[in-house]
Amino acid sequence: MKRRDVIKSLTLLPLAGSVLPIQSLLSPVADYNLTLTLQGKTMPDLHRNAFVMDGHVHVMTRELLKKTDIGQRYTDGTVDLPRAKEGGLDALFFSVYTPENYYPGRFETKNTFRVVNLALDQIKKNNSMIELALTASDIERINKKGKMAAFLDLEGGYDLDGDLNLLRALYRLGLRSMMLSAHNTSTAFIDSCCDVSHWGGINDLGKKIIAEMNSLGMVINIAHASNDAIMQTAEASKHPVIYSHGGFYNIVDHPRCITDQAAKAVASKGGVIGIQFGSLFNNPKYRAWKKTQPSAKTTVPNGTTIEDVDKQLALEVPLNFRGTIPDEYWMHVDQLAKVIDYGVKLVGEDHIALGSDFDGGPELPREIKDISDYPQMTVAMQKLGYSDYRIEKILGLNWLRVIRKVTEGK
Ligand SMILES: [Zn+2]
Repeated sequence: MKRRDVIKSLTLLPLAGSVLPIQSLLSPVADYNLTLTLQGKTMPDLHRNAFVMDGHVHVMTRELLKKTDIGQRYTDGTVDLPRAKEGGLDALFFSVYTPENYYPGRFETKNTFRVVNLALDQIKKNNSMIELALTASDIERINKKGKMAAFLDLEGGYDLDGDLNLLRALYRLGLRSMMLSAHNTSTAFIDSCCDVSHWGGINDLGKKIIAEMNSLGMVINIAHASNDAIMQTAEASKHPVIYSHGGFYNIVDHPRCITDQAAKAVASKGGVIGIQFGSLFNNPKYRAWKKTQPSAKTTVPNGTTIEDVDKQLALEVPLNFRGTIPDEYWMHVDQLAKVIDYGVKLVGEDHIALGSDFDGGPELPREIKDISDYPQMTVAMQKLGYSDYRIEKILGLNWLRVIRKVTEGK
């Protein structure tokens, strides 16, 4: 929440929890010029004043399946617009998701179009808080009005066959970023991290899709792709590519984490890697413990209609982590700071950012209950002794640079 919004909400909103005297809202209370927000949480002035953008926030699955509104404050899950605002977010990769559940019946394209359409409706409906951004300049223009900017990013297959006409149609609707890999599933054109390799990376159709996204001006997201696919995409793309959310394989040997080699390939093209907030990808202790646990069965329904799939998936939303983590394996936010620092040392401060994966199921660190606790990331980076400018890059300027390059060619 920006200072002006704190003041505004003081006069406009019914207050949840205790009311703080206005003086305490505006005065520093601890190290790093922390300021208390209405919720009694601390927010460094650096965070309040910085451009803050998250590379991967799950939205719309709940709204689609439960007919709810993201502008309301939910009592569960980890994301909604009021809490995003409290967390000081200025922009989001508004990740619309087509999970594996829709693939067996080949409902992925239908789901993709309806979630993109719903996202446009929901953004319009909540126009007082958020607006759709198609370019970096849009993001800046929207922020100037005191609103958050939504930059649509598709996670999951838009079409497992890779039809270029459907891609063009999605662009026309306002989609400006897309994961090439169909989540954890290999498709007709690219191998995923976590499935059989059909192509040893990407094939000729994959290269055509990359060229098409380059010429349309769409951000190519290679999170969830195989190591070879990441390397080959970075090579084939004219523009920088992003890895929106994950950890480093050298820290946690999970296939969803990026190798040093692939991270360097992404950085060498001017791209950016977003650090996800979950223990599974960032906390080796937790990962080691997890390996000893019986793996939870994932059920991919093979319902005969899309309505069947919807019904089954609706039981799982919001898609946040609901398990319990034994105390000794539950990481603090300083572990995420260590992962950020590993990335900065590996590829440089221009190529690291944040991609929380809120409501995508990460086992969040102790200090972060939901998106409203975003300032904790700034506090953790300040404790590393980072300069304000380095933190600002990681908090959002790096994402903005790539979006500007891809959507405006500069
Ligand atoms: Zn993901």
